Formats: sequence, structure tokens, C-alpha cells
Amino acid sequence: MNLRNFVCGEWQEFSGAGVPLTDPVVGDELARASSEGVDFGAALEFARTRGSAALRAMSYRERAESLAKMADVFAKNRDDYFRISQQNLGATQADASFDVDGAIYTNRYYAKIGRALGETKFLKEGAQIPLSKTGAFVGGHFLQPAKGAAIFINAFNFPAWGLCEKAAPALLSGLAFLIKPATPTAWLTHRMVEDVVKAGILPDGAISIVCGAARDLLDHVTESDVISFTGSTDTAARVRGNANVIRRSTRVNIEADSVNSAILGPEAAPGSPAFDLLIKETVREMTLKAGQKCTAIRRILVPRAQIDAAAQAIAAALSGVQVGNPRNPSVKMGPVVNKAQQTACFEGIKRLQSECSIVFGDRNAFQPVDADAAKSAFVPPTLLRAENGAGIVNEVEVFGPVATLIPYDSPAEAAAIARRGSGSLVASIFSDDAAFLQSTISEIGDLHGRIVVVDASVAGQSTGHGNVVPSCLHGGPGRAGGGEELAGLRALFLYHRRWAFQGPVAQFNALVDSAASTASFYE
Ligand code: NAP
Repeated sequence: MNLRNFVCGEWQEFSGAGVPLTDPVVGDELARASSEGVDFGAALEFARTRGSAALRAMSYRERAESLAKMADVFAKNRDDYFRISQQNLGATQADASFDVDGAIYTNRYYAKIGRALGETKFLKEGAQIPLSKTGAFVGGHFLQPAKGAAIFINAFNFPAWGLCEKAAPALLSGLAFLIKPATPTAWLTHRMVEDVVKAGILPDGAISIVCGAARDLLDHVTESDVISFTGSTDTAARVRGNANVIRRSTRVNIEADSVNSAILGPEAAPGSPAFDLLIKETVREMTLKAGQKCTAIRRILVPRAQIDAAAQAIAAALSGVQVGNPRNPSVKMGPVVNKAQQTACFEGIKRLQSECSIVFGDRNAFQPVDADAAKSAFVPPTLLRAENGAGIVNEVEVFGPVATLIPYDSPAEAAAIARRGSGSLVASIFSDDAAFLQSTISEIGDLHGRIVVVDASVAGQSTGHGNVVPSCLHGGPGRAGGGEELAGLRALFLYHRRWAFQGPVAQFNALVDSAASTASFYE
């Protein structure tokens, strides 16, 4: 099966042989993808002039209704998406649900909050600003949707959610998009786009997909477009550094990698709720999607006195996790996405081993359930232990079921170690010491996109360390890319341009009358 590209309102065969997409459990080829033959210049121009123009003619409420219809289409095809996730990503039911149900939920969420913007087509921000003695000449701020296209370049680990978390805010804003999913797992994104196209929900040109290499895509973006990228720091630098992107000042949002921390409070001894909750969350984060989540816990910071107990507890829990073919119902963790990622994980573990010791996870003794180790792409859950919080553990992100325990000797040191991630998507703090919680939040808040605080009062109610909810911010400073996504209607800011009005009060009032207020974005 060839994944045809959908550009300029039509499905186009690619030229050449294409790149194979494989099943990471049995090694079979599933599909082929390539962008060879795609005219990216024409594709983006069609998206801008046909798709975005048609979307801008609709109100926020009308666009929100389209998002709801897309969610209905996705929900109808959910079983097929789970099957594709199992085949192409080696996903368990829980892994597929995290991606696919997360995608459906995100679309529905934006449909719901988007409806509240009503029949308007642009936004006003803040109050009228007096600029003259008589009050005849006034100022104010408005935001209009950019008149270009949104370009999504996505990572391999979330083919469904990665589509919707970007598409819902862009479409609601009135921008057509062209998505380039990561090649190894493009099949699911492709199928979801195909389902939306077939359903005829969106205007012509509002949705385009190109699978395969980005080639000269970025050479065709303009000042009116918005690039939303998710992937590694190295690729992010290439996207940001593209000469055309720099020359045109094309807006770029980057969601990159991150060595996220979970921090256990100084008071938390084995048997305490905080200790038990940290252990449970760490094991879940290491094994869900085989640790292939940008938000997964990579560094586990514990008081030095508790590191042996934490190591034993995590190792004991990991030893009960069946790893293997997700077609076997006893299996709780599948493979990583392909052989290349498996090799990258093993290389990353080796780099960590230069300074850390392995507590759990012996690659040589590992045998996956119902799978041939030679053909498949499994990485055993691997827990490491660092002697201190300096060095390589703060630098290497192993994008798989791998995390490292780090001891700390004081609350100040715990915060300093978390900061050595150089900017992270998320940190979680497990403690019942209110003073420790407050001081740690204040020490690390500026370098984290999200902080999850768990004490005994919220045990069992927390949305979780690695779970990104559409109502809260996703993104992080520094190494994490410096981007901001989601956070409810704030996500619309990426796709709007703010401009200041200075003029007669009557003209200002006329604009205000036909705009939705951004005040509701912060409620
Ligand atoms: P990647 O290798 O950086 O690829 C990301 C995307 O960029 C893919 O679609 C890739 O296409 C494309 N790409 C590669 N070279 C390009 C270029 N020169 N110009 C434009 N696009 C280019 O990352 P990945 O391996 O797919 O994903 C894993 C990484 O993503 C991890 O580091 C993880 O932490 C990060 N991630 C971050 C988030 C977040 O929200 N912060 C979420 C998920 C993952 P091809 O596949 O065709 O090469």
C-alpha cells in the first residue's frame, strides 16, 4: 500500500519507490510513503488561497462545529485506528487509547470552547486606551487570523494526538493546514486525514497531508504562514535555521525533547503516600507507550536516604510488567517504534552507563513475549542510578522505557538538579511537605512548562505526570523548544496576529462590536 499525498485538493501518487513503514513486532512491511513528486509551493498556495480563505469566511462557532464533526468521524473509526496503532507502533490497547482517545478528546474540547466565541471572526484584547484629551482618538488591541497556512511537522510517537492538538486550534483560528507526519508512523495520521476528507467536513484546501521527507517544504513558507514543529532538538534547530524561514520571519513554534524530572519530597519515606505515588507514576511513565512520550519521567530525584528503597520498589514493579507482542492480552508494554529507535535507545543507555549503573533491565537476558527478538524492536524497561545529580543524566534523553534515579541531599540541590535539564516540559513533585512544595515550585517554575504537584489529598485524582490535557499549557523553555501549545483558547494566539488600533472612537467601537473578547481565554 502506498500512502498517497493529499495536496491541491487531490490525492497524488508519489514518484519513486518510497520508504517502507514496518511492524515493530514482526518486522513486516505495512506501507510505503514518500514526498517525491509533491510541489510544496503549489500545495501551500492552494491551502492559503482556497482553504484558509474559506475557513476565514466562517465564524469561530461554525469552525468549532467542524471540529465536533471531525471528532465524530474519528470516534466512528476508532477501532481501525487502534488496529493501525498496534501494527505500525506496536501499541498496546492502553498506548493506542492514550494517542487516539486523546486526539478525539482534544478535538471535542476545542469544539466546545470554540463555540463560545460565537459568530465573530476576530478577537479584541484588553480595554480601550485613551490617547487624546477629548477621548475622540483612542487605542486598543485586536487579533486577526494569519492569512497563510499552518505547517505541521510532527514526531513519530503521537500520530493521532499530534494531528489534533495542532489541527484543532489552527482550524478554529481559520487556518488551513498541511501536515507532514513523521515517516515511520505516518499511516495512522494519513488514515485520519483520509477519513476527514471523505466525510467532506472541511472546505477545499483546508487539509493537506504529505508523508515522507520534508525536502524543500520550508523553502516555500511565507511571512503569513505558521510552522508548528514537534520532534528532536537537532531537527528543531534545522527548522528554525532554514534560510527562508529566517528571511521571512515565519512564526515557528517548537516542541522539542526534554529530560523531565519527578521529585520525591525530603520527608517521604517508604510506605508514605508520596513515596508510593511516585513509584507508581514512574513505572507507568516508563512503560506506557514504551516510554516514547516527550513528557515521560527521565530523572527521578529522591532523598539520598531513600534511594535504595526507591530502586528496589521500582525494580520490583517493573519485574511484573510483561513486555512483548501487544496482540497477547497479558502484555503491558510493547516495542519501540522501529529498529532505528531501538538502536538509538541502546546507544543512549550506553552513554548513561558511562556515569550511571543499571539497577534493572538486562538487554542480554531479555526475551519478549510472543516475539522474535531478532526481528522486533523491543527495549527492556531499564532503570539506572546516578551517584550524584551532575553530568550526563541531565543531558541524554533516551526516548524509550528508560529512567534514572538521582539522589539529592537538600531541597536546594533537588531544585538545582531539576534546573540542569536546561528547560523541561514537565516536573512532578510528590510530597506532603507544604513548605518544600512551595519553595521547589518557586525555584523551578521558570524553567518548566508544567508542574504537577501530588500530595496525599489528590492521590488518585491527579491527571498524571505525562498526560497533556488540552486545558493546560504544553511546551517548555530552553531545551524543550521554547514553544507553547494548548492551554485552552490561548492556543489560538499562535495562529493570530496582534495589531494595535489608533483612531476615532467610533471606528474602535465598530470593531469591538464584531469581535470576541480574549478575556474568556483566561477564565
Ligand atoms: P525527529 O527525528 O526530530 O523528527 C521530527 C519530524 O521532523 C519528523 O516529521 C521528521 O520527518 C521531520 N524532519 C526531519 N528532518 C527535517 C528537516 N530537515 N526539515 C523539516 N523536517 C524534518 O523526531 P522524532 O524522532 O520523530 O521524534 C522523537 C523526538 O521528538 C524526541 O526527542 C521527543 O522528545 C520529541 N517529542 C517532543 C514532543 C513535544 O511535544 N515536546 C512530543 C513528541 C516528541 P521524517 O520522519 O520524515 O524524518
